[in-house]
Amino acid sequence: MRHMTAHAPGRLPDDTCDRDPIWDRELETASYEQAVERASSLWDKQFVYLMERSPFYARKFREAGVGKTKVRLKEMGRLPFSTKQELKHAIDEAPPFGTNLCVPPAQVKRVYQTSGTTGAPSVLALSRADIESWTVIGTRTYFATGIHDHSSVLTTFGAGPFVAGHTHFVLSRIGSRSVPVAPGDTDRVLFGLKAGLADTLLSTPSFAQYLANRLEKSEPDPSTMELTHIVTGGEPGGGIPAIRDHIQKVLGATVTEVMGIGDIAPSLFGECPQQEGMHFCGDGHVWAELVNPETREPMMIETGAVGELVYTHLTREAMPVVRFLSGDIVRIGPSPCECGRNTFRMRVIGRRDDMFIVRGVNVYPSAILAVVGRFRPRVTGRARVIRKTADVSVPPPVPIEVEVPDGLAADAGLVEEIETAIHSALTFRSRVALVPEEVFGESGYKTRLTVDRP
Ligand SMILES: [Zn+2]
Repeated sequence: MRHMTAHAPGRLPDDTCDRDPIWDRELETASYEQAVERASSLWDKQFVYLMERSPFYARKFREAGVGKTKVRLKEMGRLPFSTKQELKHAIDEAPPFGTNLCVPPAQVKRVYQTSGTTGAPSVLALSRADIESWTVIGTRTYFATGIHDHSSVLTTFGAGPFVAGHTHFVLSRIGSRSVPVAPGDTDRVLFGLKAGLADTLLSTPSFAQYLANRLEKSEPDPSTMELTHIVTGGEPGGGIPAIRDHIQKVLGATVTEVMGIGDIAPSLFGECPQQEGMHFCGDGHVWAELVNPETREPMMIETGAVGELVYTHLTREAMPVVRFLSGDIVRIGPSPCECGRNTFRMRVIGRRDDMFIVRGVNVYPSAILAVVGRFRPRVTGRARVIRKTADVSVPPPVPIEVEVPDGLAADAGLVEEIETAIHSALTFRSRVALVPEEVFGESGYKTRLTVDRP
């Protein structure tokens, strides 16, 4: 992971250009006090806007006992949280855009759909100004990873109905070369990389891992391709050392990661080449809070803190949210960063929904991936927890499926070694089943970390 110690702070190892590696220097290097001041004055306006324009929030605030007097940013804790279910319900109340649409429908200029993994698809409406703010936030995010106008970027983030397609606006704003490929179209990705069309790949960590495994077998030295930078997103994994190190080693590229959340902004955090977590890139548009995942009490955003991220839009016009519980549990990284940004950094530990408890200890499936990854090349790096019931408490031994290369599924010794490693690293007993690639499924594009199988 530290193979690139000689590079200039905030720059990728091979990047010798002389442009400022920070897109919006004034805003991204501002002090915390300056950021609070900027956010406070934006929020004052946004609060009035919500009371006037959002039937959903006007009612929600009234029910929470918040009168017409302005709630300031520093008193944000008085306002109720918003959940995904509530926002979905707001849409169902008055389809297609719902009771939280704050602009006339004619001013909705772009509509994305959510994947509908938990029920029917939902919609995300953007005004012209919202399209621009998502592009601005995304541009800071991808620029932070090291993508500049001289980069050529092969992106597997589809332009279909999903918010990931907004990345295309971002790449053209940065001015980089864009080489779009449909998600999971391995042949075209391989063609593009081998032909030298791109030096940067945007993909899920699952797909990057799949690519590394495949090229490791089929190519004499895949690290000689033009590829020097891989930006992972769409799921956690790019920040897990066992996954990241393998991809970097095989493909000879630096891995950084990005994260966004559809209801807030599709690209909201970007990891700089210092590789110690993703910088918050939403300043001036989004206000982030950290809360205790169990008690929901506010926490300080400081080095080492672990909590759930909560977001409030400061400028969103069409479907703004307030204190949205993201479900993402993160650990706050060290600050300040050598790259010069003063924005906080974080690494995702897992989704609140994926967490389970074994004998009183909280477990996130990403911790299991970190252990399983050590057994490469006898494993591919993918694994998932099988949940027999909806209970958050899981009695040991915890059933875990580990993907292995075809032909290696009968290795009883490997099963025992992984079970022992999980026990010593995570202190719970597991029952590991080895599953061949062909059977594991999900095409290597995105991996669900827990699967319900009663
Ligand atoms: Zn940095």
